[in-house]
Amino acid sequence: MTRQKLFVGKKIILFIISRVKVPAIAKKTFDQLSHVPEFLGVVQLILDKISRVSSPLKRARIVHKAVDEFNVEVFAHPLVQQFSPCKVGCSGCCHTQVSVTSDEAEVLAERIKEGLQINLDRLELQSKVSEESNTFYQLSYSDRRCVFLDDSDACSIYEDRPSVCRTNAVLGDAKQCLVSGETQQLRLVKTSKADMAIYASFLHSKESGSLPFMLLKKLKEKSLSVVSQSAKL
Ligand code: SF4
Repeated sequence: MTRQKLFVGKKIILFIISRVKVPAIAKKTFDQLSHVPEFLGVVQLILDKISRVSSPLKRARIVHKAVDEFNVEVFAHPLVQQFSPCKVGCSGCCHTQVSVTSDEAEVLAERIKEGLQINLDRLELQSKVSEESNTFYQLSYSDRRCVFLDDSDACSIYEDRPSVCRTNAVLGDAKQCLVSGETQQLRLVKTSKADMAIYASFLHSKESGSLPFMLLKKLKEKSLSVVSQSAKL
């Protein structure tokens, strides 16, 4: 067995023991492609890079940069350019569940600490139900709205958005994204290498979970006053 397989294999065993949740699409991609050296190499590359870094903010940014770089070619493909309706202000995917690593939750908490205001009532509501996807989708569409969506339905933390948000792109009619509770069959743009990078980041993370749950936890860990001082938009 190569050193690469041994290193990733050891991480996977630790990962299974830790029961850290990995986003469904990243897991599916890993299950399908982990036997292909080119794709397993992405997991290795990311693990190598972030294992050497002690700052959670820097680790998250390394992963975000890698995800963006892997996606450049995919999103520039003529078919994606022609058939993807995704654009600023189109926020269907920002009403779905997003999983984040502990490092990403740290980045989001920092933005709030710096003064960004969010709707804490909604964050708390989402946090209570969001570890169970069925319960989350029983919330009304407006209650599922991500706390980082601004008044014009754009992401207020775009540069710092989680990895999962960076890979969210569909093909076809934008109306298919306007989910109101029932599951929709979306045709997603395939972002396999970015998915492998995301898988690696969750593999490395000691903790992960839904964005609302992880963010609220981080805010409470950092300082309860941050939570109580933020506005209720
Ligand atoms: S973090 Fe930004 S991109 Fe991600 S779901 Fe929230 S508003 Fe949308």
